[in-house]
This record gives sequence, structure tokens and C-alpha cells, in this order.
Amino acid sequence: MAVCSECGALFFVGGQKHGARKFCSERCAEKGVALLVVDQMPKPAINNLARQFFDAECPVCHRTNRGVDLRRDHRLISAIVVQHFSDRQYVCCRSCGARRQLGMLGATLALGWWSPRGIFMTPVWVGKNAFELIKTARNRPSAEISDLLAREAAEDILARVQTSANC
Ligand SMILES: [Zn+2]
Ligand SMILES: [Zn+2]
Repeated sequence: MAVCSECGALFFVGGQKHGARKFCSERCAEKGVALLVVDQMPKPAINNLARQFFDAECPVCHRTNRGVDLRRDHRLISAIVVQHFSDRQYVCCRSCGARRQLGMLGATLALGWWSPRGIFMTPVWVGKNAFELIKTARNRPSAEISDLLAREAAEDILARVQTSANC
């Protein structure tokens, strides 16, 4: 059994192996070329990239050196028989992230309980937000944003290689 490096799918047979990466299909192998480039990038260069992003301007409050990273929050609202779950993902600094996450935690705490399922799910959802808040408090870039930035840089390199090959 293997996990596709590109789409995250589990697969049992077939697939392709490139370096340390495994891909479930030809399509994923094609899209995943960027990952192979990432694997060749020196770790300090990726860390640098992430650090620069982390210390750069927050897209929400426009302040710098506030720890810009990928943030998430989870909201649960229940009304007797319906539950509304929502997960959001955004890029912002620590204080903007904490403000939104606290808001969602509060909303879930106030509005999550009002259905039979909500009674069981609210503590889980509050816990999920609390966990996101703990992650937000960290003073270094997450592995997630490092991966994303490395991938972006790799795709950039690939795009440039392609354009120079075309002319
Ligand atoms: Zn795949
Ligand atoms: Zn901010």
C-alpha cells in the first residue's frame, strides 16, 4: 500500500515511483514533477523562503514581522436537525489568525450545541479550534507553508525551464 505524493490517494497496485515519491497515476506523476524539484532543493533554502514569507506583510492587517502563515478555523452551527460545518483556510499573521479562530471557537461554543448531534460534536469542534490556536501561537513557519512555498518555487523553476525550451 502506498500514498500518492500528489493527490494523497491510497493505492495498492501499480503507480509510479520517482526518487522518494510515489504517484498513483500518470497524471499525478506529471503534476508531481514539481515535488521532485522540491526534493532537490536544499533544506536551508526552503527554510529561508518560509522565514521570509513569515516575516513579510500580513495580507489582512498589512503589518510586518507578525508571523504570516497558513491558518485554519472550524465552525459548527446546529439548529435542531441541521448542522452546518465549515472549515476555512487562509493566510494571515498570528494576531489576525488568533482573532478569527477565537471568533469561530466562540461561535461554535454558542451555536454548536442546538441539535442532538451538535451536543456530541461541539466539544470536538471547539477542540479543533483550540488546536489551531495553539498552532497559531508558534513562532516559526509551519511545515505546511514551507511545503507550499517550496512547491511554488519549484513550479516557477519548471515554468522557466519550459519557456526556455520552447524558444
Ligand atoms: Zn495521485
Ligand atoms: Zn495580520
